[in-house]
Amino acid sequence: MHKAIVYHTISTHKVSLPSNIDITPECFEQHLKWLAKRSERVVPLSRLLTEAVNKSLIAITFDDGYEDNLSVALPLLEKYNLPATIFMVAGFIGKKGYLTGKDLAILAAHPLITIGSHTLWHRHLTDLSFSEARHELIASKQILEETINQPVDFLAYPYGDCNQIIEQISAECGYRAAWSVWNGNNSLHSLWRVPLGTNDNLLRFIAKISSAYFPVKRLLKPP
Ligand SMILES: [Zn+2]
Repeated sequence: MHKAIVYHTISTHKVSLPSNIDITPECFEQHLKWLAKRSERVVPLSRLLTEAVNKSLIAITFDDGYEDNLSVALPLLEKYNLPATIFMVAGFIGKKGYLTGKDLAILAAHPLITIGSHTLWHRHLTDLSFSEARHELIASKQILEETINQPVDFLAYPYGDCNQIIEQISAECGYRAAWSVWNGNNSLHSLWRVPLGTNDNLLRFIAKISSAYFPVKRLLKPP
């Protein structure tokens, strides 16, 4: 089975951020080094949609658009020549700690990087009205496309929150595919990703990349 993996901020903290979303540059580099030894399996996110699942490909993604995705992650991705997709919260562009419009333009022009949308304000989409949810998906797509002057085809749901209605809105708003974390049924607009964070040392990373991890995690998830 293919695996999309998701990081957030690549940075060092004395106390982990909520949900342990931070990972140190040293630990992140260990992951990349391991992946680089299997570089034929590491592909841009779009390839997961078109390649046979028995190839067990891996795609790297980042959510939220932390500025260290450019200053810390990109140089490491370049060092190991590994592609990645950055899902940016359009309303956070230029806010403290997040990528600026100029940063996004640099990243979008980079051959290793794809930019996707992580909605407008990072709200729980399943708590919103139909029109509010639609606005989150449409406005973010427009803003990001104007910022990078390229189409933005991919979406990642904040907190992985989605349901059938949200999946339908994603399709109607012109996204080619959308990623959750574990929600939905792993169809084109609720694709699963493997979250990685503070506690994912190399051994845990390898376990989570292994083919057994998806269904096991899915079965353990509370209803
Ligand atoms: Zn997020």
